[in-house]
Amino acid sequence: MIEFKDVSKVYSDGTEALRHLSLQIAKGEFVTLIGPSGCGKTTAMKLINRLTEPTAGSIYINDRDVHAYNIHELRWNIGYVLQEIALFPHMTIAENIAVVPEMKKWKQKEIRERTEELLDMAGLDPSVYMDRMPSELSGGEQQRVGVMRALAADPDILLMDEPFSALDPITREQLQRDIRELQQKIQKTIVFVTHDMHEALALGDRVCLMKEGEIVQADPPQQLLLNP
Ligand code: ADP
Ligand code: ADP
Repeated sequence: MIEFKDVSKVYSDGTEALRHLSLQIAKGEFVTLIGPSGCGKTTAMKLINRLTEPTAGSIYINDRDVHAYNIHELRWNIGYVLQEIALFPHMTIAENIAVVPEMKKWKQKEIRERTEELLDMAGLDPSVYMDRMPSELSGGEQQRVGVMRALAADPDILLMDEPFSALDPITREQLQRDIRELQQKIQKTIVFVTHDMHEALALGDRVCLMKEGEIVQADPPQQLLLNP
């Protein structure tokens, strides 16, 4: 589904962010990338949806180089959730969720039905939340909407970059449980970045341990615990 083949990234200021990284992620797999700040996790994510370009090597999605895709087609098919709660502040919750479906020119009726379905899935009553502004929601509720917005147009891949780091511990644990449950329901390929080992082990089918731009271990949580 997603493949990194011998990928290196050197930023224009000379920073070596990734060194000869190779990784295959299967369809429907939930992979967590863990490692200290600066080890290249975010760079790896940004290479998947072409927010940055590799210096060497290639990234493939469904056996096709990411450069072979139309950039909009590529990004519409990849949901992206970031740490900073990034709902558009002047749009209602429904308008936020509809951004990509609108760009894809879905019918209004379809968009409305999809929005209701997603809010239900997020445990937020559509009749209450559709017309609210982001500022009227708690941090945890906003991040739930952020996840649903990323899923709105039914992408194959969901990239999550420390999505819960800004939340309080209780909300965070709740959202961790929810995302795991959601994954079992919708079977998306998920790449989840964290620097919290507890979170990486709790969520990942496979945990990729990164250090200085390399993957030093990539194993299911059980195996990682046995071979630290
Ligand atoms: P590229 O080599 O991929 O073109 P650039 O070096 O041009 O990337 O940087 C892209 C953006 O990232 C710039 O706006 C730059 O200010 C910002 N940036 C530079 N250094 C860092 C850093 N260490 N961490 C995060 N962002 C940075
Ligand atoms: P992580 O997500 O693991 O914290 P990053 O991928 O953000 O790591 O960064 C890897 C390395 O590349 C760090 O040294 C960081 O400062 C540097 N870096 C990230 N973005 C840029 C940029 N745009 N320009 C220059 N250096 C960058």
